[in-house]
Amino acid sequence: MHHFALRDGALHAEDVNIETLAALVGTPFYCYSTATLRRHIRVFREAFAELAPLIAYSVKANSNLSVLKIMREEGAGADVVSGGELARALEAGIDPKKIVFSGVGKTRIEMAAALDAGIHQFNVESEPELDALNEVALSRGARAPVAFRINPDVSAGGHEKISTGKAEDKFGVAWTRAPAFYRKAAGLAGIEIKGVDVHIGSQISDLEPFERAFLRVADLVRALRADGHAIDRLDLGGGLGVPYGGPDQSGGDPPHPDDYAKLIRRIAGPLGVQLIFEPGRMIVGNAGILVSRVLYVKRGEARDFLILDAGMNDLIRPALYDAYHAVEPVRPRPGALEAYDVVGPVCETGDRFARQRDLPPMVEGDLVAFKTAGAYGAVQASQYNSRPLVPEVLVDGARYAIVRPRPSFDAMLADERNPIWENAAQTP
Ligand SMILES: *Cc1c(COP(=O)(O)O)cnc(C)c1O
Repeated sequence: MHHFALRDGALHAEDVNIETLAALVGTPFYCYSTATLRRHIRVFREAFAELAPLIAYSVKANSNLSVLKIMREEGAGADVVSGGELARALEAGIDPKKIVFSGVGKTRIEMAAALDAGIHQFNVESEPELDALNEVALSRGARAPVAFRINPDVSAGGHEKISTGKAEDKFGVAWTRAPAFYRKAAGLAGIEIKGVDVHIGSQISDLEPFERAFLRVADLVRALRADGHAIDRLDLGGGLGVPYGGPDQSGGDPPHPDDYAKLIRRIAGPLGVQLIFEPGRMIVGNAGILVSRVLYVKRGEARDFLILDAGMNDLIRPALYDAYHAVEPVRPRPGALEAYDVVGPVCETGDRFARQRDLPPMVEGDLVAFKTAGAYGAVQASQYNSRPLVPEVLVDGARYAIVRPRPSFDAMLADERNPIWENAAQTP
């Protein structure tokens, strides 16, 4: 469910007309719906109400401060994967006791910042990382609360580049070796074992891989307890998919949070642990769209191209993961559908959003919206081809706010310097 719909012939975000917004803000831009964000986090929370889990919103899906503040208002914590995301979460006012730090490559500086902030948990992914965290904690007279991320060796379907739970992926500690890691961790004075963590991936469209992974992890929790470890927390990661539409959706819609909750109650309920979830995509995915204008309709030899003012630097998911995004005219024209290749202006063949997509007739100057672009969209934007970072707009009812403006060319260049060799420092 989301709050983007045609009204009087034009796409609206809640009560805001996207045509009007495009005239005010200029294109391309991302537009997020507050009501949709709030709805998704509430649906997730209500599905798990009786288990009272910590919901640590995965900041990497959409890290705009305004989005993080809505998450805080809804009682969510944050799952961060870098010092920068930690700084954002703290700036948004998220309680450090609700912050979980994930990722395979935490630096010692990042570890120290998170320890000083007093975060809830480090999800540790390797033995050398455990050693580093132990040293950093000891040097600050602290004990780091830790869960090991377990790699359950479960294939979750979806695109190869978003699979994280197979033995050949870089994530986590092999489940077969986990007992030895916990034994070692128990002997480290800077480490306090708290729980077990698993995250098998993103955009998973059925419950079966979750079931296999969680059963494995539940067995591990029992085995670790039998070894004398106090396992009080179980972090089950993010990963419920969202419906993007298109041919990949042929298997049907992703599971509903209620069914996911039922599975988890069955497997994890009897363990008596604090549950942690790190949802990202399912919270923000279809709470956002990318709005772009048609620059040219190019009638080619072999096919027709819709050349947009948004490019792969603004939304890289199609180029990076072969992802499907529905493309819809903001004001659909009457007439027979025509097939277009929908492309951007970036000088890369990969700058293509869709091949041979059937759309109503389009002309120069028309607006289109990429649906379900709220997750892994703006956060992955770059200035490639020296295109200014795409702005972000938040809508709430009939109001809108530009929550990240489009930088001017001057601002884009301001951080770069010409070397002044006469005064330059020499390395010692
Ligand atoms: C990316 C990520 C998530 C969020 O995944 P979604 O599919 O967006 O829900 C959660 N946990 C970890 C460790 C991640 O890397």
